Amino acid sequence: MPELIEVETYRRQAEAVVGRTIADAPALDPLGLRGADPDHVRAQLVGRRIEAAERIGKLLLLPTDGPVLGLRFGMTGRLLVDGGASIDGLLHGGQGDDPAWDRYVLTFTDGTDLRIRDPRRLGGLQLDPDTSWLGPEASTVTADELATVLAGSRTAVKARLLDQAHLAGLGNLLVDETLWRAGIDPARTCDEVAPAEVPVLAEAIRTTVAELTRRGGSHTGDLQAARVPGASCPRDGTPLERATVGGRTTYRCPRHQR
Ligand SMILES: [Zn+2]
Repeated sequence: MPELIEVETYRRQAEAVVGRTIADAPALDPLGLRGADPDHVRAQLVGRRIEAAERIGKLLLLPTDGPVLGLRFGMTGRLLVDGGASIDGLLHGGQGDDPAWDRYVLTFTDGTDLRIRDPRRLGGLQLDPDTSWLGPEASTVTADELATVLAGSRTAVKARLLDQAHLAGLGNLLVDETLWRAGIDPARTCDEVAPAEVPVLAEAIRTTVAELTRRGGSHTGDLQAARVPGASCPRDGTPLERATVGGRTTYRCPRHQR
């Protein structure tokens, strides 16, 4: 979290600032600038007008009449526009809500503002971010695109789907939910996914994203309540296995995920 569903929510929220002019852009916490000079970033943004609110995978892009502003939200980042958040809390977001977690602020000439509030400080802000390395957008991935994502790889299919360079937008919850729905073992290698399964998996990705978007977030999947030790598969009642796949905590059903 946040995964593409949450960042799409932020994007819609950020549409409110399109047309506004940046009055100031202080980095309250320079950590997420990845080494960029805070004064340089600020100077590049002051006086610029926000022209659009776009998204690629988990990256929010705010093109201006100068640089493109890229916002990353890490594990716990939230967007606040004019003091309001579209998502009240995120899993692992820590307790409560504290303005001390505001890492970046854009203030606008009309007195309004946009903030990134991020307890764990894994998000960040970047000017003209390189997006060429990102894989295709997960919410619209086609069977042909997914075949390319998986082609010739002996990586675990879960690790591949999480790798933003191969497929942009999915995080841990969406991948586990999708593979559970598709009946695919997360630890199976990509080259063990049969050609006939690829369109099924592509459709599972698209429909999972669409359905959980309607429900309100990546944490609203059918598997979610069973993501605790000792829980059983909501589909067939088999005790779920907990493992680490692709470096992330993974829940899988040993019965129907093969
Ligand atoms: Zn099952």
